[in-house]
Amino acid sequence: MSSVSPEVSKRRTFAIISHPDAGKTTITEKVLLFGNAIQRAGTVKGRGSNQHAKSDWMEMEKERGISVTTSVMQFPFNDCLVNLLDTPGHEDFSEDTYRTLTAVDSCLMVIDAAKGVEDRTRKLMEVTRLRDTPIVTFMNKLDREVRDPMEVMDEVENELKIACAPITWPIGCGKGFKGVYHIHREETILYQSGLGHTIQEVRVIKGLDNPELDVAIGDDLAAQLRDELELVLGASNEFDHELFLQGKLTPVFFGTALGNFGVDHFLDGLTEWAPSPLPRQSEEREVVADEENFSGFVFKIQANMDPKHRDRIAFMRIVSGKYSQGMKMNHVRLGKTVSISDAVTFMAGDRERAADAYAGDIIGLHNHGTIQIGDTFTQGEKLKFSGIPNFAPELFRRIRLRDPLKQKQLLKGLVQLSEEGAVQVFRPLINNDLIVGAVGVLQFDVVVARLKSEYNVDAIYESVNVTTARWVSGKDSKKYEEFKRKCEPNLALDGGDNLTYIAPSRVNLNLSMERHPDITFHQTREH
Ligand code: GDP
Repeated sequence: MSSVSPEVSKRRTFAIISHPDAGKTTITEKVLLFGNAIQRAGTVKGRGSNQHAKSDWMEMEKERGISVTTSVMQFPFNDCLVNLLDTPGHEDFSEDTYRTLTAVDSCLMVIDAAKGVEDRTRKLMEVTRLRDTPIVTFMNKLDREVRDPMEVMDEVENELKIACAPITWPIGCGKGFKGVYHIHREETILYQSGLGHTIQEVRVIKGLDNPELDVAIGDDLAAQLRDELELVLGASNEFDHELFLQGKLTPVFFGTALGNFGVDHFLDGLTEWAPSPLPRQSEEREVVADEENFSGFVFKIQANMDPKHRDRIAFMRIVSGKYSQGMKMNHVRLGKTVSISDAVTFMAGDRERAADAYAGDIIGLHNHGTIQIGDTFTQGEKLKFSGIPNFAPELFRRIRLRDPLKQKQLLKGLVQLSEEGAVQVFRPLINNDLIVGAVGVLQFDVVVARLKSEYNVDAIYESVNVTTARWVSGKDSKKYEEFKRKCEPNLALDGGDNLTYIAPSRVNLNLSMERHPDITFHQTREH
């Protein structure tokens, strides 16, 4: 126990992983409604209207009606303080989405129960595996005709390799959706449609054998529910807290985000079971959240949040201790002490001046180009946190200048933007091309827009025959040299001068990996 323990133990820091359109935005709205953060749900993303969420800051975002930013929302629930880190999801999907997952202690996986496991969810689950992050699951859209819930759970188990433990169980779906049976509380919670914008007063029927249940949902449905539950309980896993914490088992909740039903159930589960801020590994030692001394790492840098100022915000996850306004921090990579008087905290989507923040919280530091992704800040101790990687890009384009005289500025801009994590840049060993790699397609536009406004260079893209990249390393120096010689046409240096294999196709990559078994091909790279 330390002086910060009581505050730290209240924190739950999570993000939502889902495929576009599964309901992440709607869930975020309802979650904030429960957190009393907003009075009436429906203000997070004003899609199709003129009302834009506060985090929409760039002109480009406004034009497209999407949010480029990963914002952070803090709200109270039960006796906890919950931090929800937004993960860009549609066209704004990017490496930041992945890296945000390295800054949380748990995730909510949202699945459209009519569709089951979808592509983006698979990818994001892979990223959570890097830290074996505990996953809570919400099966959404039960107010529509959905697939057999048992079948969808099977699909999650088989495709995502995580055991499912139902905590609630749906009664009907679509127009016949009646509510859920809460297996742990042994009660039926009845659904009323059309009240999605409010916190509903729910009707609860205790016990599965209660005759009131037959009256409420009808004899047939009640009998069917009893039979089904017997089957489900026999065939599925029981909730096991230890396995949940290891990321091997997920508690599953059912409901409808639009109807605001079931959201509070998973919030109860999340606050009760999800871990408070977890220890983090640094190169020197493990750092525990309730240590007295402050420490944190930067997982995301965002430009121009406030269009009036050309500054950037570095998002820092506090790993241990407490931040208070005006405190001195050591920027470890630079060996510099800085006094931080104007960090921002994120209370319910609003950016405001931080009072205090504790391990598990996110704060934003104003950054004039000195802070990089992965940087560690401490109260003096020399630490470098690990586990905040770059992820191999999945999309590539050659970038070219309209005015060839500005090659130097272009390279400088690209390297700086890659240090911010906006994009990655690769320079092939055999020619003077500049290849930009990204995880989400919007990043290409962001980079050209920022090159123009911040570096005054006018650049355009051309297609390039690269589909995937891997960072390479080899222990045996002779074999490594041989590999470099043989594969030179496929090798490039990234923004930090790390050797990278850029492959025209998966087949080519697989072949090279087979041919060079002594070379390691990495999908992520530590900063
Ligand atoms: P995101 O792309 O994951 O952020 O998904 P949104 O929250 O924007 O939802 C995508 C669409 O699905 C929107 O039209 C929502 O109104 C709708 N939607 C979300 N949750 C539900 C639900 O529980 N039931 C139904 N019928 N529609 C939903």
